[in-house]
Amino acid sequence: GPSVAFADVTKRYPGGTVAVDTVSLEIAGGSFVALVGASGSGKSTLLKMVNRLVEPSAGTVMIAGEEVTRTELSRLRRGIGYVFQNIGLFPHMSVSENIGLGPWLAGEKDREPRVAELLDLVDLPRDFALRMPDALSGGQRQRVGVARALACQPGLMLMDEPFGALDPVTRDQLGAAIRALHDRLGLTTIMVTHDMAEALLLADRVLVMAAGRIVADATPKALLAGE
Ligand code: ADP
Ligand code: ADP
Repeated sequence: GPSVAFADVTKRYPGGTVAVDTVSLEIAGGSFVALVGASGSGKSTLLKMVNRLVEPSAGTVMIAGEEVTRTELSRLRRGIGYVFQNIGLFPHMSVSENIGLGPWLAGEKDREPRVAELLDLVDLPRDFALRMPDALSGGQRQRVGVARALACQPGLMLMDEPFGALDPVTRDQLGAAIRALHDRLGLTTIMVTHDMAEALLLADRVLVMAAGRIVADATPKALLAGE
């Protein structure tokens, strides 16, 4: 996957909250980075400035050395998978329709082979394709969310609290699946989580945010050793 770089990036929301405060940061292509921190520390805002769900107030965000601008947005977004907080499946659409929406919008007529392949990739049975989201468990739904994010064959995966309200066992299973996909597909992954244990387990690099700034930046090994 591509590298991602932030140069002096600030986000000030209308009303004056400075959610991200002059952050500069380079993320190597192919790495798995976890953004950790308390609620309100700016993690989601930082993540959403990568695919411009949030517009920076100042500074530049670059993907593979190219500035993310409004005019290039649709082209860039096609290379970015996004896993929503709280899953965000369309409830009135089947698993197949949820996963195949991106490719279908991009003009792919026959989505079934892609959907079957994506279900395989996230270890769900192919006959789940016709189910509605409310007939799935939380962990299964989140796997569908990951499959949908992979449908456009992104190099870069952005995940906002992918483990949301899952129980610990399901969390661990989904975490292992996400890490395996990262490695197998050669992705660059940026994952927001408030769970340090999850970050230490999955990521190559852990960034800790507080009040809109990055206050720690280390490998799990260094953090565990208390360096
Ligand atoms: P985190 O993901 O770490 O919980 P957020 O990036 O969601 O943090 O929020 C950082 C700060 O920005 C918080 O104070 C939050 O209330 C504020 N914020 C987030 N989104 C908006 C918004 N759309 N409008 C105004 N303030 C926002
Ligand atoms: P997230 O971590 O994804 O931002 P939140 O639960 O903090 O989730 O916020 C849910 C939605 O409300 C998001 O779209 C966020 O941008 C927006 N939001 C968060 N805080 C504020 C705020 N203080 N004022 C306005 N909108 C906000």
